[in-house]
Amino acid sequence: MSAFSRDDLLQRDREDPLAFTRDWFQIPDGVVYLDGNSLGALSQHVRARLEEVITAQWGQSLVRAWNAHDWIDLPARVGAKIAPLIGARANEVTVGDSTSVNLFKLASGALALRPGRSVILTEAGNFPTDLYVLQGVAEASGGRVRVQALPRHDLLGALNDEVALLVLTHAHYKSAALWPMAEATRAAHAVGALTLWDLSHSAGAVTVDLNAAQADLAVGCGYKYLNGGPGAPSYVFVAARHQERLGQPIWGWMGHAAPFDFTDAYAPAPDVRRQLAGTPPILSLSALDAALDLFADLDMSAVAAKGQDLVDLFISLVEARCAGLDLHLMTPRDRALRGSHVSFAHPQGHAVMQALIANGVIGDFRAPDIVRFGLTPLYLRHVDVWDAVETLRHVLTGRLFEAPRFQARQAVT
Ligand SMILES: *Cc1c(COP(=O)(O)O)cnc(C)c1O
Repeated sequence: MSAFSRDDLLQRDREDPLAFTRDWFQIPDGVVYLDGNSLGALSQHVRARLEEVITAQWGQSLVRAWNAHDWIDLPARVGAKIAPLIGARANEVTVGDSTSVNLFKLASGALALRPGRSVILTEAGNFPTDLYVLQGVAEASGGRVRVQALPRHDLLGALNDEVALLVLTHAHYKSAALWPMAEATRAAHAVGALTLWDLSHSAGAVTVDLNAAQADLAVGCGYKYLNGGPGAPSYVFVAARHQERLGQPIWGWMGHAAPFDFTDAYAPAPDVRRQLAGTPPILSLSALDAALDLFADLDMSAVAAKGQDLVDLFISLVEARCAGLDLHLMTPRDRALRGSHVSFAHPQGHAVMQALIANGVIGDFRAPDIVRFGLTPLYLRHVDVWDAVETLRHVLTGRLFEAPRFQARQAVT
């Protein structure tokens, strides 16, 4: 039993001051979309902007659009829109390449600022691309540096004067557990290390204040809670105090101080533009630009609070309606300590998620046994959470997941 009914949640939706934002998005009928932490939903704004950029800008202006529509400064303009969502100043953020590539650029640059040090410290079980990229950075160093990946509770205790860089993902992609950014940054700085934060599961979902935490560097995805579209470019934050000294290994012309002077020798731009490499992806950047306009007039702390309300609701309904059905909560109960998704372990997790998707509830599966549900505040209603948990209960009590068609592993989970 639960302490409230579906009707109570419909009432809560009628009283929700953020309910109106759902109308911006195009959620298919019959779907409860709980995977906006993996691929944010399409908004009308993005659709309209892409139409305009394709038809009027590219179609009509052709190459003149680089000046006429100021395409050349789009990375900076989009960066400036992301800045308030992550506690940065407008001139500390730019956008381009993927999160993986940006991790490589920033980690390589950071190591060069700490030439006498040999360790990149990160969390065991961090998002795979973060671990792989750091391993690649170590490999490229020719033996000068190594990656040390430790469990969360041992991590800050391992900081010492050999550590050049601490790389952490703010909200864990499986558990949603948050790192205390200010505390971890302070601990790193106390031993002279730099910090690099991955905000992929944070920006647009929880409040982030990089500058209040004195963070040095950060990256994050444009296609998750920011709704920039599949493969949207990633953002890069470099604290103002580091911009003149922090280099990066991909010396492309778009990071040059004067790209259109066409000189033979590389001379890096003096500011965060140095982090760019090649020609900006204008269609993807335009989509992200339009998606970010949706946040412009919203109070991020109210958005984040609604996300946490939905997570609380999801947990309490699962505990009331799905007790004894083999679901084990992997996400912190304390709303101050988590991002905006919730995960449960289940021995048949992959099949359970396949059965849920077949029944209109889209979440995702993370090996080996995690079913994960993104509670995106901008387009989910309280009643969606009710319906999702009822479907979950139906899948588990009816053992729908045992059907052979849900056993085969898909390429993307
Ligand atoms: C989603 C995610 C990424 C994705 O990186 P891409 O280069 O865009 O594939 C990286 N790090 C974290 C923590 C993520 O959650």
